[in-house]
Amino acid sequence: MLAPKIFLLLALGLMLSHQSRSQKIHITSYICSDSLTTVHMGEMVVPKEKEQVFKEAACMAVQILYSKEFRKELTKYIANHTNDGDYAEAWQGWDVDKIISGLKEHINGITVITDGSPAELWDYTFFGNLAWDGDSSGPIRLNQFGLNRDAASIANSFIHEVSHRAGMGHPHSSIRGAWETAICEPPYVIGSILEKIAKGNAWTWKKAADCKCLK
Ligand SMILES: [Zn+2]
Repeated sequence: MLAPKIFLLLALGLMLSHQSRSQKIHITSYICSDSLTTVHMGEMVVPKEKEQVFKEAACMAVQILYSKEFRKELTKYIANHTNDGDYAEAWQGWDVDKIISGLKEHINGITVITDGSPAELWDYTFFGNLAWDGDSSGPIRLNQFGLNRDAASIANSFIHEVSHRAGMGHPHSSIRGAWETAICEPPYVIGSILEKIAKGNAWTWKKAADCKCLK
């Protein structure tokens, strides 16, 4: 059904001028630490009203990445669900140590911006795009039209994009009709596991975003 999407696009278009004018805040070198770890996130440039949720999401991503539970869940997932199926190839060469050390290396100093450009509006409306990893040296970019989410969901986007920086991919996302395979490839699974831990009992499996193996 295209018509509802066109109306949505028009409605979002009206918001666009407001969005692009909305004041952004520069969160400089944000530090997340607990008794064992200190991670310096780089600068985050986000709408002012999203400052708290981005700070929360950044530290949530860091603390879960460094947790025993994340290692345990990822180890279990890799052992049970990555050896066959069309998604197996994207997991080849990635064991739990290599994944976690790659994520830790690349989340340190990562910079983040939100983008409210017309191209992002298009991507959000027609493809549900929430974020992309940008180029290797610049910030990761979160779609400004998809920010009405909780910190756990934004933390999912952070770690997904960091996993691209660490070298992981989801090649099936560019193949028509292969979405259910793409979401079983590393960046999506890593994001889903992190969000699942963050939400605990409140987490629910979502068909469009979480691999069926996580059900
Ligand atoms: Zn991705």
